[in-house]
Amino acid sequence: MMIICSENGKVGITTAMEVLKARGSALDAVEAGIRLVEANAEDHSVGLGGYPNLLGAVELDASLMDGSTRMSGAVGAIKGFAHPISIARAVLEKLPHVLLVGEGAERFAREMGFEEREMLTEAAAAAWREKLLRVMDAPTLAELPERRDLWRWVQLSSDPQRSGGTTNFIAMDSIGNLASGVSTSGWFAKYPGRLGDSPIIGAGNYADSRYGAATCTGMGEMAIRAGTARSAILHLQQGASPEEAGRRVMEDLDTLGGPYLSGMNVLILDAQGRHAGMTSHAEGRNYLVLDEAMTAPETFTRTLIATRQHWQGA
Ligand code: ASP
Repeated sequence: MMIICSENGKVGITTAMEVLKARGSALDAVEAGIRLVEANAEDHSVGLGGYPNLLGAVELDASLMDGSTRMSGAVGAIKGFAHPISIARAVLEKLPHVLLVGEGAERFAREMGFEEREMLTEAAAAAWREKLLRVMDAPTLAELPERRDLWRWVQLSSDPQRSGGTTNFIAMDSIGNLASGVSTSGWFAKYPGRLGDSPIIGAGNYADSRYGAATCTGMGEMAIRAGTARSAILHLQQGASPEEAGRRVMEDLDTLGGPYLSGMNVLILDAQGRHAGMTSHAEGRNYLVLDEAMTAPETFTRTLIATRQHWQGA
């Protein structure tokens, strides 16, 4: 039994392991761990307290994948619900679909009786205002909802180096099944309705119990374009170690072109329980590992694989 997660998963990793020890499934453990990150208002990249979009609304994305069946559930751009990861799980369990977004996802969540709440905290609202006032004046900020050139402001306000964050969990349960989950508020000041890689199966999340599971954080558009999480598992299938699979997907991300290239992070756990973490951001990025024999999570340093980064504002 093992859990690996991004560093901000610290608030949930021990609970996730307790779920596994109580004979819960990998999917149960991933959901339980992520719910605690979603409830942590101090984390401005996931759930409650997450930074809002350009218009000041918190829009959340989440996905879950069961590696034993490759059944998946995801929600995107959902507003006003406390636990998108659990709504994603309900999509997996109750619907023939994989991904619901926006109003449809909210309607489904209401039908399923999920807890509704305002997800914008005072701290996140203040940060939104303060950050946007660095690139626009107060009258412009006030008229943003009516403006016809919102698209221009996205290029200025969402600096990918400072705007992101997301939580990743991967679990292996007592019968060797894998599950993976991702939850995020996405980029600060994203265009309303924007989805990143987190709710896109194959981009930010993929699990196949035969080979392994992979999850991403970082500039979601890049992971969508490169099919990063799915590619990592294909490398495992072809015999690569997690470290090698991670290196290859990072090298592939480095071949992307265009004006908007930023940092990416990948976590991989294979079917043998070997793990790896990659980052293209900077030295000193970590991830956490907890297996059933350990009394506390251990911190591992992600391998730094530099990729080209440049951001062309308007
Ligand atoms: N991957 C997330 C997204 O693109 C953000 C992040 O991980 O920083 O929405």
